[in-house]
Amino acid sequence: MLVGLRQAFVRFYGCSLSCDYCDSRDTVYSPPPDVCRVERRPGSGDTVLIKNPVYLEQVVEVLEGWLQDSPKSHHSLSLTGGEPLLHFRVLKSWLPALKRFLPIFLETNGILHAELSECIDLIDYVSMDVKLPSTSGAQGLWEDHLAFMRIASRRNLYVKVVVSDTTTADEVRKTCELILSVDKAIPLVLQPLTSAQGAVSTIPARSLFKFQEIAASLLREVRVIPQTHRFLGLF
Ligand code: SF4
Repeated sequence: MLVGLRQAFVRFYGCSLSCDYCDSRDTVYSPPPDVCRVERRPGSGDTVLIKNPVYLEQVVEVLEGWLQDSPKSHHSLSLTGGEPLLHFRVLKSWLPALKRFLPIFLETNGILHAELSECIDLIDYVSMDVKLPSTSGAQGLWEDHLAFMRIASRRNLYVKVVVSDTTTADEVRKTCELILSVDKAIPLVLQPLTSAQGAVSTIPARSLFKFQEIAASLLREVRVIPQTHRFLGLF
């Protein structure tokens, strides 16, 4: 929903799921790394390694430098992963300080509702996934997604589903019904699955149109947005 706006990213280790299409496998499945990479100047690709665990003071120092080098370029600070809410205690202690620099944007797999309720008041934007069984391989998450959505809807929320040529119309309908039961105005983003080889979409356009028609008949705002960083060669 914020496509085209620049964000600063903090990537957290580990995830509570193991989706078939995960493109963050190093973050999710390897043992916790001793070091992490920090970009010295935003967009430069000039990175240094610093020791894990990272402390709030180090993040603040990096952010201060970035915002000094590129004032007003960044819209928000994106917390991504893995699954950032696995670290909700860290978020609770860090976010009051980080909010002073930029609005906080949470990118999440949308199931850890108890953890979300601990820090929702510190978050400005939520990008919540709904994991479709056919595409992600994850099963039985509908109730957790619903509980999560109810809490997340207190903030600026949109829902994202990754769709592929295995996605069914019933899954898209069920996702819409979930949203409808919370708030019809929550936007839905249909994201075509990107192949590991880098092809932008693995799903025929006619299927995307079909899914968008189903969703648009039920919800107020439905968009098809591919992974735009692929176009730009940003990883
Ligand atoms: S939720 Fe995201 S980070 Fe976690 S396994 Fe699925 S795709 Fe990977």
